[in-house]
Amino acid sequence: MIKHQGGCHCGKIRYTTEYDPMLVMQCNCMSCRKISGSMTVSAMFAEHEIEITGQCKEYTYPGGSGMPFHRGFCENCGQYVYGKPTAFEGFLGMSLGSFDDPHQFEPKMEIFTDKKLKWLKHDGCIKDSFEEVATEERIMAMMENMDQRG
Ligand SMILES: [Zn+2]
Ligand SMILES: [Zn+2]
Repeated sequence: MIKHQGGCHCGKIRYTTEYDPMLVMQCNCMSCRKISGSMTVSAMFAEHEIEITGQCKEYTYPGGSGMPFHRGFCENCGQYVYGKPTAFEGFLGMSLGSFDDPHQFEPKMEIFTDKKLKWLKHDGCIKDSFEEVATEERIMAMMENMDQRG
């Protein structure tokens, strides 16, 4: 049963999933801000949990870990759809704004708070804040949530 779905603005890229995200997180790094054009919140899934129709164009650059980071865009409308960090092999971060109903997700974690825009506030939904990349903490949180979602 489809639980969540989304796509790009023009509709050439569509995706569905039968799962809830393992982790919803806000990244305050400069790359995410540039790429998304604003602030970035991602919903993390295993790659096989997301069914994508349409071909995203991928842009690749060295990520914060020094390993390649792939970003998937719609070639037609330019929407940022997903991030695929090589440091998180097998996982996709779907951009919150690409979901048809983004209100259903709230970030539970944020990283790179040292780069956070000073006026950005949150209402208490964020439980864990990290100044840096926090790769290990993110993997641990994703694994914990994966066990709990059934
Ligand atoms: Zn599009
Ligand atoms: Zn980032």
